[in-house]
Amino acid sequence: MTTEQNKYELIGEYKCPKCGGSQRVFDSVHTKLELQGKHQHGDVYFYNREVRQLLPMTSAVLTMPIVSLYTDVCVSCGTAYVFRIDYQEAPIRYLSKLQQGKN
Ligand SMILES: [Zn+2]
Repeated sequence: MTTEQNKYELIGEYKCPKCGGSQRVFDSVHTKLELQGKHQHGDVYFYNREVRQLLPMTSAVLTMPIVSLYTDVCVSCGTAYVFRIDYQEAPIRYLSKLQQGKN
């Protein structure tokens, strides 16, 4: 899975909470494929992404703030952990695609 980095405001990035390692499984595979010219540079690769909406105060909006939690697996110890959290003002029609798993 991937997402474009430049549309998102970074809130935090984290290393493995168990061993402190920073190598992640999906990121490592992405790097190998990038070196072979099969993946683009700059994309964020991850095992899972959970998206949560912050409900607007009014229903008359065209965008909605969403927070994404990205999970991957530590290469060193196998622990699954959240390595990145970001924020985005997402157009409402984009949100419906996310909810359908079409990101
Ligand atoms: Zn670890």
